[in-house]
Amino acid sequence: MATIDGHVHSPFCPHGTDAPMEDYVIEAERQGIEVLVFTEHAPLPEGFTDPVPEQDSAMQAEDVGKYVAEAARLRKKYAGRVDVRCGFEIDYIEGFERETLHFLRKYPEEVRNSLLSVHFVRLPDGWFCVDYGADELARKAEEPGLEMIYLAYGEAIRKAASKPFGELNPPVLGHVNLIHKFRKRIAPARDPIDWREVLATAAENGYRLDFNHAGLRKPDYGMTYPEEWMADEARRLGLGLQTGSDAHSPEDVGRGFAPLPEA
Ligand SMILES: [Zn+2]
Ligand SMILES: [Zn+2]
Repeated sequence: MATIDGHVHSPFCPHGTDAPMEDYVIEAERQGIEVLVFTEHAPLPEGFTDPVPEQDSAMQAEDVGKYVAEAARLRKKYAGRVDVRCGFEIDYIEGFERETLHFLRKYPEEVRNSLLSVHFVRLPDGWFCVDYGADELARKAEEPGLEMIYLAYGEAIRKAASKPFGELNPPVLGHVNLIHKFRKRIAPARDPIDWREVLATAAENGYRLDFNHAGLRKPDYGMTYPEEWMADEARRLGLGLQTGSDAHSPEDVGRGFAPLPEA
């Protein structure tokens, strides 16, 4: 099986670094990673206002063409050395399915290399980005409460796992338990999410899971998404795991990947 880093970002990510896409490819080649998949945050759907203070969660719509073209150039240049692919990290945002589908229709080739992730949940006082910051989560945990945030995330990820975009659905579910990112600092007494149901739903719908190693670099989490027991459960259900670094800078490509077991 080919070694793959199936989740990397690019200079088109406004909250990432300015390093050129080629540097990610060079680092992948240096490490012997055979497949490198660019999955830049797709532009947020029309009508949705980015709830984070800097409004920098996703790539600008006017950059998509440049991003796709640069990935195509690198794919050609590195052919036979690194299999460079181009996709997107698509946000599943409840209530914006139509707008999201509109984007997916424009990029059917890239959709095959894409991830579907949940970063935003709708709370009674508006949209909230669950992985933005521990302080923000702590504030929201007071009102409307952590239980409600968890339940909103659980519902959104379950819907994402049910393959809401049919034929045009990305084949990989991104960092399935991202809600746990600040867990060492702030966590509910009991996790109210039925993770087994989420995983079973993803399995029924033929997903692979992003075996996301960014969590290892997060001080308030310190493990992969999904964590070990979920990864075991996923394997039991026949869900494939696809390694991803979620690199937002070239030196994070392939970071923390375990050596592949003998096939
Ligand atoms: Zn990002
Ligand atoms: Zn993400």
